[in-house]
Formats: sequence, structure tokens, C-alpha cells
Amino acid sequence: MSSARAPHSDPVPARGERERSVAGERSSNALLDIATLDAGYGEMQVLRGVSLVVRPAEIVAMVGGNGAGKTTLLRAISRLIPSRGTIRFDGRPLPTTADDVFAVGLVQVPEGRQLFDRMSVEENLRMGAYRRRDASEIAGDLDRMYGIFPRLADRRRQLAGSMSGGEQQMCAMARALMARPRLMMVDEMSLGLAPVIVDLLLETMTRIRAEGVTVLLVEQDVHAALSVADRGYVMETGEIVREGTARGLESDPEVQRAYLGDVTGGD
Ligand code: ATP
Repeated sequence: MSSARAPHSDPVPARGERERSVAGERSSNALLDIATLDAGYGEMQVLRGVSLVVRPAEIVAMVGGNGAGKTTLLRAISRLIPSRGTIRFDGRPLPTTADDVFAVGLVQVPEGRQLFDRMSVEENLRMGAYRRRDASEIAGDLDRMYGIFPRLADRRRQLAGSMSGGEQQMCAMARALMARPRLMMVDEMSLGLAPVIVDLLLETMTRIRAEGVTVLLVEQDVHAALSVADRGYVMETGEIVREGTARGLESDPEVQRAYLGDVTGGD
């Protein structure tokens, strides 16, 4: 299977042009627009010419097996590792440092959650808002998080490290949302969680989107990710090998054979 998207040809607009452009008038309506991205670790190249777009208010799934390069992609987007290629966010070149990427509203929920285990749920959520100075709005957002994740409301004083895996995942997502991101990238949300909890988290994902947050969902659980996504991409050994609507990918015989446990769809 070959790379699914032609090389990006959208040039960086000249300064004056960029300043004149306002929402809705940009050349691309993508919130995140990645073209021909290469990245890896030292001598080892992992990502090879990855191109993808995420449009405002979409849920986009990036699926693929263990070691395909999905986490590496998120690290490259978050500027935690160096990359080659172009990444544009909201019509502009993405900043080049992790702090600045966070500041423009692109926030990652890392694999394994990485909570502050010895801090309470509420302290973790407040850490998500550490760059914000609007105390009254932060208080309002805490209430909003407890509305989205009622289980966290019951556990707001509990140490994050003492909660179940599903509750910790909710806490990690709520912490990310406290930064008021425009794009939330979630890495392996379902890993190690019971199906009933995964379903609950997927439902929550649609609610988060309804509140105006765009989501890039990176998942090994292809069925779970496609069940909630609008569109998806399939990554294999660092390359995008398929892209399409979530329904289209779910019914693609190759995707079914490789990822959805279809043993009947023979040659
Ligand atoms: P998983 O869901 O298992 O994490 P993935 O699709 O997210 O899979 P990556 O974690 O991006 O895959 O790994 C892609 C490749 O990069 C693998 O071969 C992995 O061994 C390698 N890799 C990942 N992290 C590092 C690192 N810090 N240093 C060197 N190689 C790494």
C-alpha cells in the first residue's frame, strides 16, 4: 500500500498575507495539517513521509499495530522529538518548542496517563491549567470537568495514584481539557481498560467534541477508535497506508483482515 496523500504543496503565506487571513478565509480549512513528516530516534527513522489533516471539530483516529509509529507521531507533533516536513496549526506554522505548542492549544494525553500520583484529582486538574491566570474561569472549568466526568467529582480529594485505570484515564483527559485545548491528542486511551470503561470514555469523547474540542485519537484498538471517529488513518511501519471515513475503513476488507479480527474475509 502506498502513501495515501500527495505531497503537500501549500506554501507558507507571506507575512502580510498571513496577517490578513482570518478564520474561514485560510487556504486550508484544517486545524492541523501535516505534510511529509519524517521523524525518529537518532539514526533510526520511524516516520516516513506522514501526511494528514484534522479539521475543526472532527474526531480523527490514527490506528495501527504495536510499534507502527503512532506515539512517535504524537511526540513529533508535540515537538518532543525533532522532525522534518511541515506541520501547520490553524493555518500557521506550528511553533517549534513543546511549551509553545501547548500554548497555542495543542495538548497531548500521554500513553500511560502520567498523572501526579501523589496529588489529588483536583490538584492534577489544576496542573492542567497552570498557564492560565483566570481564576474564576478555572473554577468554572473544574465544575465543567466534574460534569463531564461525574466519577471524578466523587473522587476530587482522592490521590490520583490510588484510582482505577479508567478513572486515571478520565483524570488525564480532564487535566488536558483544563488547558482549554483546541486540539486534544489522546494516546492509547483504551490500553488495559475493561470494554465497559472504554465505551464510557468513547461516549465522553463525543461530548468533548460537542464542546468544541477537536480530537486526534491514537489507538491500537481499531474498532474502538473507528466507532467514535469521523475519519481515520492507518499507519504501518511509520507510513500512512490507508485513510478514509471511519465507516469506510471499518468496511475495508484489508483493514478488517489486519485489525478487526475478520478471519472469514479470505483472499
Ligand atoms: P505502541 O502503541 O506499542 O506504543 P506505536 O505505534 O505508538 O506503538 P511507537 O511507540 O511510535 O509505536 O514506536 C515506533 C518505533 O520506534 C518502534 O520500533 C519503537 O521500538 C521505536 N521507539 C519508540 N520509542 C523509542 C525511543 N525512545 N528510542 C528509540 N526507539 C524508540
